[in-house]
Amino acid sequence: MQKRKLLFIGGLIIFLGAIFFLVGRPIVAKEKIQKQTRFLMDTYCTIQAVGPKKVVNRAIQLALDRMEEIDKKFNVLNPNSPLYEFNNKNMPVTDQEILDLLKIAQQVSEESIGAFDITIYPLITLWGFYGDSPALPEKQKISEYLKKIGYKKLSVENGKLTKLKKDIKIDLGGIAKGYAVSEAVKVLEEEGIKSALVDAGGDIYALGKLKGKDWKVGIRSPRGEGVIGVVEVSDLAVVTSGDYERFFEKDGVKYHHILNPKTGYPARGLASVTVISSDPVFADAWSTALFVIGKEEGLNLVEKTPSAETLMVTTDGEILYSSGLKENLEIISKGGKK
Ligand code: ADP
Ligand code: MG
Repeated sequence: MQKRKLLFIGGLIIFLGAIFFLVGRPIVAKEKIQKQTRFLMDTYCTIQAVGPKKVVNRAIQLALDRMEEIDKKFNVLNPNSPLYEFNNKNMPVTDQEILDLLKIAQQVSEESIGAFDITIYPLITLWGFYGDSPALPEKQKISEYLKKIGYKKLSVENGKLTKLKKDIKIDLGGIAKGYAVSEAVKVLEEEGIKSALVDAGGDIYALGKLKGKDWKVGIRSPRGEGVIGVVEVSDLAVVTSGDYERFFEKDGVKYHHILNPKTGYPARGLASVTVISSDPVFADAWSTALFVIGKEEGLNLVEKTPSAETLMVTTDGEILYSSGLKENLEIISKGGKK
């Protein structure tokens, strides 16, 4: 009896072992990282995700489709977008999705005392940042165009966005990428993905963990190709605004696409601002806002906000970061680790 029982148990172990070998192995092998890239919102958007190949690839595709949909809707240059009609034909915006994002943008404008301002659009076009040959405008033109902006000249009432002044034009370019990332993450989660990294050209979200560990996200150096630091994050957005994305140089001066709504000129002092927070939309808008606000005041603001951290690089190459980042940030400089 005893012997038969032992034989039975032994057989069972071998049998289960064989099943694990045959079934378990392929599952482990299939749990590889999958990756797809699409050119959207004027940048390369890459999604990496972990899980069974078929499921993951489908999820990534759906997430990129969602980003593409947002790109079309929020693109001010798309003649079919409600924003184009608002800007060029004074048609009120009634699209709820746009109104919802606009509400967040307006909140950031209030809280940043106008450093973030979506009505900056006429100035962006004056500088030519949406065209092929941006150039330094005349001083007088800038003063003239400053009168065309101001987030308080927008009104949302009864589900309708209208202008309080006919010159007002809006551009959600400083926040829409964060929204696209946030929506892509939503799609991935709906498709059952637990581990992914969404990167829309510097607007990044790390979902879950990679093989049980935090995702390591490199923060690009604003000068040169390397990274300036690495943050270890999970379920967090890491969003960077930099003076290197769109710019031109004249007489040795760099002019870039993040404008100070008070002066009409590119914001000075910082070369890049990274914001780390659970919400990609918040992180995107604030990376632009802090870029305009500047290092001292910006850092103070972030220190007072427990849900956000920041890393800033000045145009002189100085690296500053908020105290909450210390534990999961590794600074890498030219000479190696600091
Ligand atoms: P990036 O395009 O490099 O990701 P941002 O998120 O900072 O950088 O967005 C820059 C875009 O935001 C500009 O192209 C312009 O459309 C818009 N923008 C520029 N200055 C401001 C500002 N002060 N407030 C709001 N939006 C801005
Ligand atoms: Mg931004």
